[in-house]
Amino acid sequence: MPQAARGSRRTLGVTIAAHFAQVSVMSPRTASCSCGQLQIEVQGEPLRVSVCHCLACQKRTGSVFGEQARFDSSGFKVTGASTEYIRVGDEGTKFTFRFCPKCGATVYYTAEGRDGVVAVPVGAFADPNFPSPTVSVYERRRHSWLQIPVEFEHVP
Ligand SMILES: [Zn+2]
Ligand SMILES: [Zn+2]
Repeated sequence: MPQAARGSRRTLGVTIAAHFAQVSVMSPRTASCSCGQLQIEVQGEPLRVSVCHCLACQKRTGSVFGEQARFDSSGFKVTGASTEYIRVGDEGTKFTFRFCPKCGATVYYTAEGRDGVVAVPVGAFADPNFPSPTVSVYERRRHSWLQIPVEFEHVP
């Protein structure tokens, strides 16, 4: 019996270790609006994290630039009610923004023709350890005091 007991403890230890390893790699992230009513859960690591200095992002966020992360849209889950706002970008792409009808914060958006992707404003994760952006777009609208790291991809 003592042999069997030791054996089962070892098995349990291995199972727990494997479980934690899986959680740390596949852990979903949750973003939410200011009041918490609207939430999105996304799976996996972001496909692309960028900052955008365009005037539409400035208007939408109330900040002087937007930061957003694209995720594979398979397996994303939304909780709560949202209102849609559709904006056509400069290149004719139709973006559908979903925001909380109660507090007004945008929690996610999609772009027509990019079916496999969902974009989430990075601030909605409220996570200072979120992966850094690597791309900076619409730099011609960048506020002059704002320094973007040289190693980023810069799009005028
Ligand atoms: Zn809200
Ligand atoms: Zn923008």
